[in-house]
Amino acid sequence: MESDSPAPQPEKTPKMRDLSLCPCKSRQPYGECCAPFHYGKALPQTAEALMRSRYSAYFFGRIDYLVDTTHPDVRTPTLRQEIQATADEARWKFLTVLSASKGQAGDKTGKVEFVAQFYHNGVLQEHHEKSRFRRSRGLWKYVDAKG
Ligand SMILES: [Zn+2]
Repeated sequence: MESDSPAPQPEKTPKMRDLSLCPCKSRQPYGECCAPFHYGKALPQTAEALMRSRYSAYFFGRIDYLVDTTHPDVRTPTLRQEIQATADEARWKFLTVLSASKGQAGDKTGKVEFVAQFYHNGVLQEHHEKSRFRRSRGLWKYVDAKG
């Protein structure tokens, strides 16, 4: 028999996760920010939105989403393992988007510069990246990181 009482386990249910603030630091609830992209219910309309959703995907270990949002032209046979390794070894702490150029509705390319803070083996580190994005079949995809 199902009970109406709250579940006793302390883990966050998907519902609670949706109500929590999004890991991408947009100050929006996850359920109204990156979750619709992760669940395939909406598509990021800008390169920055895609970048933020990829950060959140690393945060939650959504490897399929990270592979899927990598541009097909740059997907390598070892991409999945590389993403998995990065997701496993880092505990993501904070994201700061420094700038974004192009990457809007009418653009075909875009760049987003950001700093991601994470713990690696308990040590706080910073990853500063200028990501490049390009559309594939109309959808924003991550291409690479260039200075
Ligand atoms: Zn988000």
